[in-house]
Amino acid sequence: MAKKVKFKLDGREIEADEGRLVIDAAKDAGVNIPHYCYHPALGNPGNCRMCVVEVAGAPKPQVSCRTPVREGLDVKTESEPIKRARAAMLELHLVNHPLDCPVCDQAGECGLQNYYMEIGQYQSQVRENKDHKGKRIEVGPHVMLDQERCILCTRCTRFVDNVTKTHELGIFRRGHSERVELTPGLILDNAYSGNVVDVCPVGALTDRDFRYKVRVWYLDETDSICTGCSRGCNISVHTNTKRPWHNDGKRVARLKPRHNHDVNGHWMCDDGRYGIGALDSGRLGRVLKLTPERRDASWESAAEEIAKALKAGGVAFVASGMLSNEDWAAAKELFAGAKLYFCPEPDQIGVEDDFLRRREKVPNLKGAEALGLKSGSFDELARDLESGKVKTLYVVERDLAKIWGAERAKALIAKAAFRVYQGPNKNELSESFDFRLPATAYVEESGHFTNFEGKVQAYCKALEPIGQARPDAEIFRLIAAAAPAARREVAA
Ligand code: SF4
Ligand code: SF4
Repeated sequence: MAKKVKFKLDGREIEADEGRLVIDAAKDAGVNIPHYCYHPALGNPGNCRMCVVEVAGAPKPQVSCRTPVREGLDVKTESEPIKRARAAMLELHLVNHPLDCPVCDQAGECGLQNYYMEIGQYQSQVRENKDHKGKRIEVGPHVMLDQERCILCTRCTRFVDNVTKTHELGIFRRGHSERVELTPGLILDNAYSGNVVDVCPVGALTDRDFRYKVRVWYLDETDSICTGCSRGCNISVHTNTKRPWHNDGKRVARLKPRHNHDVNGHWMCDDGRYGIGALDSGRLGRVLKLTPERRDASWESAAEEIAKALKAGGVAFVASGMLSNEDWAAAKELFAGAKLYFCPEPDQIGVEDDFLRRREKVPNLKGAEALGLKSGSFDELARDLESGKVKTLYVVERDLAKIWGAERAKALIAKAAFRVYQGPNKNELSESFDFRLPATAYVEESGHFTNFEGKVQAYCKALEPIGQARPDAEIFRLIAAAAPAARREVAA
C-alpha cells in the first residue's frame, strides 16, 4: 500500500498517495485541472501543456500530469501566472484550428470549446492565415477524421499503439504540416476502433454512425450494461426523446463506455457500441393471437390461455442469456417442471479475443447458472418435438431458424400443440406461433445481469417501452397469477 503524504493544493491541505500524479490527486479532491493529452489509461506525454500548475520552489510552471505528489509539495492551480500560461497555450492550440464549432459534431462536449469559453484569450494575437489540412477523411468504417481540428495530443495514436496494438494511426510530417494520418496500407478497422472517438478531446475524430443526427445537448444519459456478450461492459445509453425527428426518429442515439476498472476499464468493442439498431427497429408492440386467425388480444386473455396450456404439462421453454436475473427467477417459478433450453448455439456464439470480447454473445448465462437452472441440448429438443413429447413450446427472444434452418425449424415448431413467442423483436419465425407477446428491450427496464466472472451488475431504465411491451419477468408473473383461474376452469 502506498505511503500517504500531505501536500497543499490551492492553500488546502490534501492527503494523497505518495507518487500519485498531481492532476489525479487534484481530481480526487474535486479540482479539475484542464488537460488534453493526459488520459489515465493512455499515459502522460505532457505535450499539450494545458495542465500547468505553479509549484513552490520551481523556476517555471510544471505540468501536473508529470508531477508526482510528495510530502510538503505546494501547488497552485489558479494563480494569475498559471491562468495566463493556460490562456497562452490555448491560443497556440487554436492557431490553425478552424473554429467551426457551429458545424462541428463535437460541439457541446469538446475540450477545446469548453476551455476556450472558460479560460480563452478571446482576442487572438495571431494575424497569419491558418494552415489548411484534410477534412472529412474516412479513416475506417466507423470513424471520420478532420485533420484541421486535431491538436496533436496523440491520444488516438497511443490507443492504437498501446491498447489494441494495431498501429493504424500515426502523427506524420513535420512542423506546421504535422498531422494525424492512416499508416500507409492500413485502415482503422480494429474491433475497438470507436474508442478513438471517445478519447479524442476535440472534434477531429467523430463517429460516422452518430455524426449530424442529434446535438449532444438534447441527449439524456442512463447507466446500463452492454448486452453484446458476457463481459458486461459498463455503458451509458444516450437517448434522444426531446427531438425525436432528429437521429432518424431513433430513440437510442448512441452507446458510450462507462469506466469500470474491474470490468472494461474505459473501453467497449465496436460490436457492442454499434449493435443498437434492434432497439428501435423490428420491434413488437402488440399482444397478438395468431391462430386460428390473426387478431389483437389483451394481456389478461393471453395469460389465461397460456397458463391453461402450461398446466397441461409437456412444456419446453426456450430462452437465452438475454434474460435478466429477475427474469430468470420469475421463469424458474413459472416453468418449474418444464424442460429448459438456453445454451448458446451458433446463433449466439461469436469471436472472442484476449481483450474484452467474449465468445457467448449474450450477457447473462451466469444468472441462470446461479439459480441452478440447466439447459438441455437443441438436438434433444428437436427429437422431443419430432416425437410429439412437447405439447407447449414457449420461446423467448430466440430465432430457431438460426439454429435449425428456417424450413426445419418451422416444421418442428408446428409439431407442438400450443406455441408462444415472446420477445422485443420479430424474427423470421415469430409469426409461426399461436401467441406473439411483446417484451421490453433492456433499455426499457431495470434489472441485473451476472457477467462471465460472476459479477452482478445493475442496468437502469432509459426509455418507456414501445406499445404494450412489458418486461419478461412481469409477463411470467402475469401468467403465473392467471394459473389459478385456469386451474379452476380445468377442474370445472
Ligand atoms: S485526432 Fe484527436 S486524439 Fe488524435 S491526436 Fe488529434 S486531437 Fe488528439
Ligand atoms: S466486449 Fe462484450 S460487453 Fe463489452 S462492449 Fe463488446 S459486446 Fe459489449
